[in-house]
Amino acid sequence: MNIPFNKPCFIGKETEYITQAVKSGKISGDGMFTKKCHDFFESKYGFKKVFLTTSCTDALEMSAILLDIQEGDEVIVPSFTFVSSANAFVLRGAKIVFIDSCLDHPNMDASRLESLITEKTKAIVAVHYAGIACDMDPIMELAKKYRLFVVEDAAQAIHSFYKGKPLGSIGHLAAFSFHETKNIISGEGGMLVINDEQFIKRAEIIREKGTNRSQFFRGEINQYNWVDIGSSFLPSDMIAAFLYGQLEQLEKVQEKRMKLWSQYQQAFNDLVVTKKVDLPKIPEYASNNAHIFYLVCKSKEERSQLIEHLSIDGILAVFHYLSLHKSPFYSANHNLVELVNSDNYSERLLRLPLFYDLTNKQQTYIINSIQRFYKS
Ligand SMILES: *Cc1c(COP(=O)(O)O)cnc(C)c1O
Repeated sequence: MNIPFNKPCFIGKETEYITQAVKSGKISGDGMFTKKCHDFFESKYGFKKVFLTTSCTDALEMSAILLDIQEGDEVIVPSFTFVSSANAFVLRGAKIVFIDSCLDHPNMDASRLESLITEKTKAIVAVHYAGIACDMDPIMELAKKYRLFVVEDAAQAIHSFYKGKPLGSIGHLAAFSFHETKNIISGEGGMLVINDEQFIKRAEIIREKGTNRSQFFRGEINQYNWVDIGSSFLPSDMIAAFLYGQLEQLEKVQEKRMKLWSQYQQAFNDLVVTKKVDLPKIPEYASNNAHIFYLVCKSKEERSQLIEHLSIDGILAVFHYLSLHKSPFYSANHNLVELVNSDNYSERLLRLPLFYDLTNKQQTYIINSIQRFYKS
């Protein structure tokens, strides 16, 4: 059997809607399907204002511009995350101050946050790893106390909640991804969420190359001008058409992923009891959106052996982030503080195949292969 790590799912009217977009004669940004997607998110999750972007990376870059990040400003970012969580701010000249993960969870350890805040701190990037919420209350309280902004990197966090509140609705800004590896996809794609009203007007301009073209299209002004910095952050309506086809199937996708996730969890319970592996922890304040199922192995060596064992069985399992503070690009800028929990997850976390089309038969095959590894 050959089982990939991920397989993008196509289960709705994605191609039908793309055809519809093409036939409508308007396929650049902010067409009919973009509006449908915006309405979907604003009404379903109560996000104050959303803008589709061409990626989550772009939404993060827009956030850095909106927060007016300047040379020398400090931004606190977990080390255990995707490069874009940090890179978007580095592009504006920020210094990244890396925060460690929790001992028992890859998310940032909010109890360390206050000690990292200085006069130069401008923002905190809260990354909800595997779609599991960071502990947002203490993060938001500190942000208020020190007048900082919070950007939720909710790339993996669609349809996930913190104490009942949708992720993406808590920080001043939030960024989602629809990259083909996420739960809901459009190939490449993303979205900026604005919960703090003061940023709405400028976001519209930054997203349209620094012009007030959106106001012009709405007939509010009779010509449009270059009024700010900006870039081309808006996706074509064909991308939005694809995305809307997926959004209509959100419940179905989530139901299937949750089922697969629970089946993994049940199957590996005995390995936890015998202390062979650790499984993802869902804190009581967080929901699970079944974005990632992972095992935490006992050592880096054991993880390598397990990857090799699975690969012989035709199963592709992959690890995740290498700590950003040790990256070739940033290690020279880093203050050499040890971030042991982040390193720990870098070395020992292993993600198992989890995608909509994964069959029960395939999943049983993966489970059996792992059980065999731990028996021998
Ligand atoms: C996938 C991901 C991103 C990047 O998303 P793109 O849409 O590919 O730009 C950023 N942050 C995290 C945590 C991610 O998982």
